[in-house]
Amino acid sequence: KDAAEISLKDIDQLAKSSFPLCMRHMLDKLRENHHLKHGGRMQFGLFLKGAGLKLEDALAFWRAEFSQKVGSERFDKEYAYSIRHNYGKEGKRTDYTPYSCQKIISATPGVGDHHGCPYRHFGEENLRAALNRMGVSGHALEEIMDKVKNRHYQLACTLTFEATHGVSCDSGINHPNQYFSESQKILRD
Ligand code: SF4
Repeated sequence: KDAAEISLKDIDQLAKSSFPLCMRHMLDKLRENHHLKHGGRMQFGLFLKGAGLKLEDALAFWRAEFSQKVGSERFDKEYAYSIRHNYGKEGKRTDYTPYSCQKIISATPGVGDHHGCPYRHFGEENLRAALNRMGVSGHALEEIMDKVKNRHYQLACTLTFEATHGVSCDSGINHPNQYFSESQKILRD
């Protein structure tokens, strides 16, 4: 199978093994609410595109969730366009690039938004619980929380990568798609 292609049926498994916390969180919320607001659809949609999800699969993925909330007719009318747009198939046909950590960290998610960087935008209790669910606890967890306190969000994410993969990540995390591809490299070896 092509290393730079992911398919619809693998998304949940890949999220558990290789998505950074920001993207796991959005997948959880999408599955829970069958909806994501604009900021989330952009951040998560472009990440999935960068991870190798093809346009047809992306449309099927979003339609499966959104149709449970707004119906498939409304999905096709109001949401499908912007997904094709993100893939450069509508409007100016720009091929949009996935967001970097820097861009995600500087976002200002409002009430009901689930985009942004959990290390920056979650409260302490929420973040601890989310990291616990990723299997991070004890000394590693305290080190991560220490980075967060000092506003070193990407370092906190790098430490999470190291704790969950059992290897060091010398380059550091600066992009969610880099997190994903480095994880896949390790897990495929
Ligand atoms: Fe996502 Fe980057 Fe934040 Fe990690 S540091 S959770 S990859 S935005």
